[in-house]
Amino acid sequence: MLSDDICKVWQSQGAGPSPLTIEEIRASELGAWEKRALLLGLLSHIALDLELHPLVNACAERDARLRGGAESHHHYLAEKYHSLFFHLDRFGEDIVGRPRFFREDARLLADRSFFLPRAPRPLLDLFRASLRRTHGAAPSRLQVAGWIRNFHQLAFLIALPFAARNSTRTRTAENRRRYYDGPGVLFASHYARAEKRLKALAHLGLEYFESPRFDEAQRKRFDERAGIEDLARPAAAEG
Ligand SMILES: [Zn+2]
Repeated sequence: MLSDDICKVWQSQGAGPSPLTIEEIRASELGAWEKRALLLGLLSHIALDLELHPLVNACAERDARLRGGAESHHHYLAEKYHSLFFHLDRFGEDIVGRPRFFREDARLLADRSFFLPRAPRPLLDLFRASLRRTHGAAPSRLQVAGWIRNFHQLAFLIALPFAARNSTRTRTAENRRRYYDGPGVLFASHYARAEKRLKALAHLGLEYFESPRFDEAQRKRFDERAGIEDLARPAAAEG
């Protein structure tokens, strides 16, 4: 039902506390494989937030001070440039402005229809359950399906040639130094830490997720060993 690119899409979501919990994923009626995909996607988002937000926050604080404007605006800009230069360095091309982004990378659902892909009911219910917990009320299935459709439309816009023009225009040496690889700014070392962190979290998360007991004691054990703190403002790692 879900495409195997779900993890990548999950990673590209914004900052802030995770909207999903391991318990909710386990309790959902999705298939075993899909639950695992969601779990690993969730953990990779967490690992990236924990290890990259210290760099993103440092850039955003610096730019709000030097250039004015809201820190949140500079936060998104820093993440935009991280994504741009990371994809250029690792894959030789940016994802922005590529039809592939819409056709493959950003696909959330197995249904390949262009305008109205159908989301499976257990997936809609999983999101509703998590929103009920975080906001006290659950939207209808129709509403959640609408949000997924909006995401597909956004992905479509990002895949268009005009987005590629912006991407090409802004990949300057100055921006690379400012956000990605310059004095006091070393994206690669943060990213390497995120990969290491994900390895550890995936191991602990799967162990907890698949434990036959899956109770409070197991949860505590996971929390203690995973050490997941504030995702938006994590402490910078030493060294
Ligand atoms: Zn962020």
